[in-house]
Parts: sequence; C-alpha cells; structure tokens
Amino acid sequence: MTTAAYARNLRKTYGRGNTAVNALDGVDVDLAAGQFTAIMGPSGSGKSTLMHCMAGLDEPTEGDVFLGDTNISNLNDAELTAMRRDRIGFIFQSFNLVPTLTAEENITLPARIAGKSIDEQWLADVTRRFGIQERLNHRPAELSGGQQQRVACARAIASKPEVIFGDEPTGNLDSNSATEVLKLLRTSVDEMGQTVVVVTHDAKAASYADRVIFLVDGKLVNEIHSPTTDQILATMAGVERS
Ligand code: ADP
Ligand code: MG
Repeated sequence: MTTAAYARNLRKTYGRGNTAVNALDGVDVDLAAGQFTAIMGPSGSGKSTLMHCMAGLDEPTEGDVFLGDTNISNLNDAELTAMRRDRIGFIFQSFNLVPTLTAEENITLPARIAGKSIDEQWLADVTRRFGIQERLNHRPAELSGGQQQRVACARAIASKPEVIFGDEPTGNLDSNSATEVLKLLRTSVDEMGQTVVVVTHDAKAASYADRVIFLVDGKLVNEIHSPTTDQILATMAGVERS
C-alpha cells in the first residue's frame, strides 16, 4: 500500500503559559493512497488543526508532515504555495466559489492562475461523473448548495491532486445533497484513483470512508476500517466518555 501523506509526532500549541492549548499532542498518522479517510472526534479535539497542518495551511509547533516523499516542513513559502496549488485539493464547508465566475470558470481558475494547461478530457469526465455538465455556464447564485459543492469538488480534483482534503464538506448541505457529495467523493476514490480525507462529525457521512480515525484532546485514540454507521456511533460514544 502506498502512503499519500503522513505525519510524525505532530504537535501544535496555541498560546503560551497557563493559557496554552495543545491542539495536537503527538499525532502519528499515515494516509493510504487511493483511500477515503474520515477524521472524527469531539468539537475542539484538533480535527481541523490536523487537517490544516497536513495540507500545509498551518504550521505545526513540532513534528513533520510528508506529502509523498516531500517533508513539507522544509518548504519555503513559495514552495508551499506551489505544493498547495499543484498537489493538494481542498473542499470547504462554505464552498468558497467566486460569485462572479461561472461554474466552469471556477473549476479552471486555479490552473489559469498557475498558467497551466487544462486537461479537457479529464475535466469532461469529472463534470459528467459529478453531474454538473449542464450547469457549467451558471454562476454560483444560480446553483443549489449541493450543486455548488459538486462544482467545488470538481475544482479540487481538476489538477489530479495527490490528496483531496475537506473540512466538514457536507456540513452546510441538506441530507440529500450531502449524500450526493459523499457518493461523488466515493466515486473519486473507487473509479478515479483519488485519495480523500474529510473531517466530519456526522457518523453517516463517515460511513462512506474506508477508514475512520478518532481524535480526542489532540491525540489519535482509535480507528475503524470499513466502518458501519452503528460502529462509528458506538466508537464516538466510547471516546467521548473516556
Ligand atoms: P476541531 O476541528 O476538532 O473542532 P480545532 O482543531 O479547531 O478542533 O481546535 C483544537 C483546539 O485548538 C481547540 O481547543 C481550539 O479552541 C484550539 N484552537 C484552534 N485554533 C486556534 C487558534 N487559532 N488560536 C487559539 N486556539 C485555537
Ligand atoms: Mg474543526
């Protein structure tokens, strides 16, 4: 099994002295390539911090993050920017589409900013699989929340990144739209060879993953493979009591 990204002894402390918070307290984790991983845990357990550190959006206080063979702790700002642009995809809870651009322009914006050519065949395949090919000339305001998030997923996958990260990507969606987005992430992994990592507090959403890892107080405390919703709920109840 190939590892897409991994973290070693990851620590993140906010503040100092009496008020210091150990958001990450020595996390070791390997994210397998071609897998869908969900990160769960109580509010404030460090899920977003872990994801942001692994995606090069935040800097750990201690420890290392590798994307493939690259130790991202050694990259300078320009190299980090290029890595985030070329090797990582992001999906945000609030979609983060540019309102004045059409769906298609939003999807191709990162490549156009980078002066890169666009793989038209890949994009056609993505938009067809994601069910947005009829919506490509619409602006975000003319799309439902579910459609906007599918456009945001297409934008994330457009550069064929090594890892797609999503922090609560279904958090703003009704349950039907959430299911569509989760199925599309599943398809990205199963049929398009992508590696997907999402933070979620929703057991049903996490049940779409191949693996669920559980964080409590900045530590990885448990994990389940090929999880069912019931197993996830039982594990969540257990970690919240401990
Ligand atoms: P989660 O995503 O699991 O809810 P976070 O990673 O956002 O948790 O936060 C983990 C801990 O770090 C929490 O106690 C939170 O209050 C704290 N924290 C997060 N970001 C900051 C920040 N920018 N400044 C200070 N404390 C922070
Ligand atoms: Mg969070």
